[in-house]
Amino acid sequence: MPPHVASILDGKALALRSQAELANQIEQLQPQVGRPPGLAVLMVGDNPASAAYVRNKERACEKVGMASFGHHLPAETTQAELAQLIQSLNQDPRVDGILVQLPLPDHLDARSLLYAINPDKDVDGLHPVNLGRLVRSEPGLRSCTPAGVIRLLQAYQLGPAGKQAVVIGRSILVGKPLALMLLEADATVTIAHSRSDDLATIARQADILVAAVGRPGLVTAEWVKPGAVVIDVGINRVSDNAVDKSYLVGDVDFAAVQAIAGWITPVPGGIGPMTVAMLLENTVWSYKQRNGLK
Ligand code: NAD
Repeated sequence: MPPHVASILDGKALALRSQAELANQIEQLQPQVGRPPGLAVLMVGDNPASAAYVRNKERACEKVGMASFGHHLPAETTQAELAQLIQSLNQDPRVDGILVQLPLPDHLDARSLLYAINPDKDVDGLHPVNLGRLVRSEPGLRSCTPAGVIRLLQAYQLGPAGKQAVVIGRSILVGKPLALMLLEADATVTIAHSRSDDLATIARQADILVAAVGRPGLVTAEWVKPGAVVIDVGINRVSDNAVDKSYLVGDVDFAAVQAIAGWITPVPGGIGPMTVAMLLENTVWSYKQRNGLK
């Protein structure tokens, strides 16, 4: 018998399909509204990883026919200047979504800037109003990475209803909102984190195991129940000194876990592209809401 190999959850392919659907929708809606959806991306300083993410997002925007308003500001930009820019974007009728690329330089207070975004334009879903709507299971803008995880599960008919889901990581960006979205989708949810005792035992209970930590190789084969769905949110750059190159890996020991799991996301090509797809979907959702369209 050939060795067991988990099936791949292809986030890249699903993201491309979502983008093609959005491009169609935008083409149809634009004549009614008189303008395309618009996304404003604010980036401060020149963090190379942030610059790459922002480029990616802006390219994806343009590909589906959205307007992208890039604000790439010098590292010395002040809190007051940023707050003023956010206010003007809040009022700009061409802008449906505002995204502040994190992290910001140390002299800036990211929290108060996120709070200054109009919640109805908060396409990253990080404003307390949108997090509150999530807790209350009310419609609203949902954080992109967790929304991408749920969408990928649903697309492969791996809906979490009734399943044991374990999320490793409790950040406000990924772990906490994802746990709430899994709960909203009727999973039985456990959140594990850096202070959890015996992570391996907790992880092995999971029908759906999500790693959102930022530690390469954290999830080994021993942590995975045979046949489980393993979602790797982690993005870690590691260097291979032998060939003087660096590359991206997740939090899961992919080669070993692939022999145990039923389904697994690759890194790259899993949750990363789904995150961008959800950002675009959120922007179109906001555009439709703001223009009274279904
Ligand atoms: P974070 O640093 O804010 O949070 C990490 C979480 O992991 C914390 O809650 C902490 O309790 C937990 N943790 C830390 N060490 C642990 C350990 N040894 N065992 C168990 N839990 C531990 O990070 P984040 O913003 O949530 O991002 C997590 C990872 O996901 C990072 O690699 C990040 O690059 C990646 N990420 C990917 C996407 C994407 O689009 N795919 C989006 C956002 C973040």
